[in-house]
Amino acid sequence: MKEGDEILGERTELILEPQVSFVILEPSTGQVKAISGGRGEKRANLTLNRATDALRQPGSAFKILTGFAPALDVGQKTLADVYYDGPYRVGEKAFSNWYSGYTGYSNIRDGIVYSMNIVAVRCLMETVSPELGTVYARNFGITTLTDTDANPALVLGGVTDGVTNLELTAAFGAIGNGGVYREPVFITEILDRNGNVLYRAPDRKRQVIRETTAFLLTDAMAESMTGSRKFSFKSLGATSARSAFSGMSQAGKSGTTTSNKDIWFVGFTPYYAAGIWAGYDENQVITGGTSFHKDIWRTIMGEIHEGLPDPGFSVPAGITGAYVCRKSGKRPIPGVCDADPRGNAVYREYFAVGTEPEEYCDRHVQAAICTETGMTASPECPQTELRTFMRVDEGEGSSGGPGADATGGLHASRSCERGGGDSWKRRKTARRRPSRGEGERHRRNRPGRAPDIGKRADGEQCAGDRRQMELVERRALGLELWGDGAEQR
Ligand SMILES: [Zn+2]
Ligand SMILES: [Zn+2]
Repeated sequence: MKEGDEILGERTELILEPQVSFVILEPSTGQVKAISGGRGEKRANLTLNRATDALRQPGSAFKILTGFAPALDVGQKTLADVYYDGPYRVGEKAFSNWYSGYTGYSNIRDGIVYSMNIVAVRCLMETVSPELGTVYARNFGITTLTDTDANPALVLGGVTDGVTNLELTAAFGAIGNGGVYREPVFITEILDRNGNVLYRAPDRKRQVIRETTAFLLTDAMAESMTGSRKFSFKSLGATSARSAFSGMSQAGKSGTTTSNKDIWFVGFTPYYAAGIWAGYDENQVITGGTSFHKDIWRTIMGEIHEGLPDPGFSVPAGITGAYVCRKSGKRPIPGVCDADPRGNAVYREYFAVGTEPEEYCDRHVQAAICTETGMTASPECPQTELRTFMRVDEGEGSSGGPGADATGGLHASRSCERGGGDSWKRRKTARRRPSRGEGERHRRNRPGRAPDIGKRADGEQCAGDRRQMELVERRALGLELWGDGAEQR
């Protein structure tokens, strides 16, 4: 328009907001079965199709594609391998979880089921590398990454331009298809009036991840759609349960970006893969609920699967099962790993054959504790009891806050020495521990051995760790630290 021009006609369309897009495809063929590029009736051609054209941040859905998939596929990690969920920085950038605080050692399965940010970022940085993460995303059919996307935020979906719903859904379809990616197909063939084939869709497919990796990811994403509760001091629930509909095996992953500007759910059944995105075209914050997309996914998928038998997700050759400790990813120590104050830390996990752990748990330790002081018992202690503790790596040990292993998962690193005159005793006094008569105190412990059993940390590693010691004491003073959150999966 320039000055003097006359407006002859004008049409204004109000756009409903927030917007959504939806894709349903068949992973075994790549055929797109249904697609919706926005809300409401389609009134014009060549308008914005949000499913194929809108680039949006994928959020946590990218944890699977760029972090956990490569870690299991080539990173020599298993679903049981753990990363410490505690404060974590890469350079200046501090990462946080979607829930407040931290939960200590958490395995890759937990990272998927509870969509754990720190676990995902550590997996990317310590096992995979951002570069390899982008290689996997591209193999999964994501074509919109830029050269600068190989950075720590990649695994949380912090990419420069974003992804389309179509490509993200096709990527998850590959996981549901035994690791075989198929390029989405809209038109299968075009015939002339005599039935001659003018066009046939090329059969473009490639194995992106091993079949066993696809199954492991599928099994963990299936659990994320159940009411699973994390083994933790904190009460944390599976992140995708709201999307689940009944009568069909299903697996999927949620995604939510910073300040709730984009919300996703991408998942699959033995029949179809489907992805939903919701958000504002102009990228405003979604207010008034950020779970409605899961309700839409559940409703549509429930309807299109009506009457279909549930064949389940088949377990491919090359998968085996083994009992492991969920705090170490290693073989459980009988009587120790199953005696974690939060409950039984032993569970059965799937593994690609040959990746089952051979070593025993190195996180749980059991020690005889003086029931009066809560410290490792000395021969003079009148009453002792066996307790299971966590051993936390140097550097993680004093971090994590309430709920992490470092706070609740105590380690009795010092022997009972009530009656000694060191700073430890002064601090105790300051916290108004009930004082006892001289006669009731038992003597300062000499270097003697504590009657511990099972595996425990060697004294040298933990000696002098006053914080740990203080925590042991808090444990002895009150059980509230173990409090709720003792759910098991
Ligand atoms: Zn253990
Ligand atoms: Zn004692």
